[in-house]
Amino acid sequence: MPPPPATGCRSAPVLKERGQHEVFCGLTGIVWLHRKMQDAFFLVVGSRTCAHLLQSAAGVMIFAEPRFGTAILEEQDLAGLADAQEELDREVARLLARRPDIRQLFLVGSCPSEVIKLDLAKAAQRLSARHAPHVRVLNYSGSGIETTFTQGEDACLAAMVPQLPEKSARELLLVGALPDVVEDQALRLLSDLGIGPVRCLPARRAEDMPLVGPDTVFALTQPFLGDTHAALERRGARHIPAPFPFGEEGTTEWLAALAREFDVPAGRFEQVTAAPRARARRAVAAAAETLAGRSVFFFPDSQLEIPLARFLTRECGMEAIEIGTPYLHKALMGPDLDLIAPGPNLSEGQDVDRQLDRLRAARPDLTVCGLGLANPLEAEGLATKWAIELVFTPVHLYEQVGDLAQLFARPLRRRDLLKLEAA
Ligand code: SF4
Repeated sequence: MPPPPATGCRSAPVLKERGQHEVFCGLTGIVWLHRKMQDAFFLVVGSRTCAHLLQSAAGVMIFAEPRFGTAILEEQDLAGLADAQEELDREVARLLARRPDIRQLFLVGSCPSEVIKLDLAKAAQRLSARHAPHVRVLNYSGSGIETTFTQGEDACLAAMVPQLPEKSARELLLVGALPDVVEDQALRLLSDLGIGPVRCLPARRAEDMPLVGPDTVFALTQPFLGDTHAALERRGARHIPAPFPFGEEGTTEWLAALAREFDVPAGRFEQVTAAPRARARRAVAAAAETLAGRSVFFFPDSQLEIPLARFLTRECGMEAIEIGTPYLHKALMGPDLDLIAPGPNLSEGQDVDRQLDRLRAARPDLTVCGLGLANPLEAEGLATKWAIELVFTPVHLYEQVGDLAQLFARPLRRRDLLKLEAA
């Protein structure tokens, strides 16, 4: 791996674009959030379109009682002819009577509920009072207007922060919904380093939700948690800035920032991380054979673009032509930007036609983009990677580094094979 660049991209010019963009809405986050929070239910207050999106994104759950659903706003609700608040109360009462296992209920706003200005904050307050202490009712928006799909998780976690009990004890809070197996790896590494106590937001169950106060320090595991970051700072908690734990370097730097905060001796850090680092390097080397020397172009989609561009350029030898991201939050992305050598075009927001023009002029080896753009680009002979896969697949920390690199190597290998067959 090359040494860190003397000057990274933190102060590089950013092309700011505001135009038509192609992204999924924040309802998508329910797919991974409902798996993470095992006693939560996500009730989307929306239209049939919202219900269809959820069904197709999550797959139809045949054997389990699903932990998400849609309270459909019918035409008379949309026309203001029915009292949607009363109907919502009835729906919630029915749901909670049928499902005593639910301890947290999220009312999730959508485009239709926002269009008719249905006040879900008021509804959550009223329903919380009615169903406390067994069930806590919160609300957030998953609406697709001017958002991107990972914002759903950010909005959900940010809505939880003001409700967390106050505590003044020095604790580390890991923020971001990681798959359980990955979260367990993080907790094991931190415990081996002697860092603790550690809590997670979101917790798997309502009773394990963390406490927060001015002595809480927190580390983000996902780069799309800008609102949650702000909400925690409002509660007095302090963020530990670090590159995100993608790739061997990102994971090591992320752990190193936490180790500095908790005064972990250098020898112990080396002892705990040496073996998994070596494993991660070996795993990347296999995929880097395919990736090295190839170019990559990121469309703004998952908000993982900057840390992933850092991983691909520094650990896999790729060249980034453009790194597009929906939002560029420098307090969160700065440490990753510091590690990216100047060169790539940085863009924030999207004007999809102009970006497609730049893509076609550059003809990169790999384009990372949303589902809607991938098929037409494949038809134009460009290899693509669906950004959404990067959120649905476990890709954080040392043990997943090989899988992360392979996600990018696979489409290139497939294309190489097709070329060989055609020759
Ligand atoms: Fe579509 Fe909006 Fe519903 Fe998302 S919230 S599925 S963008 S109508």
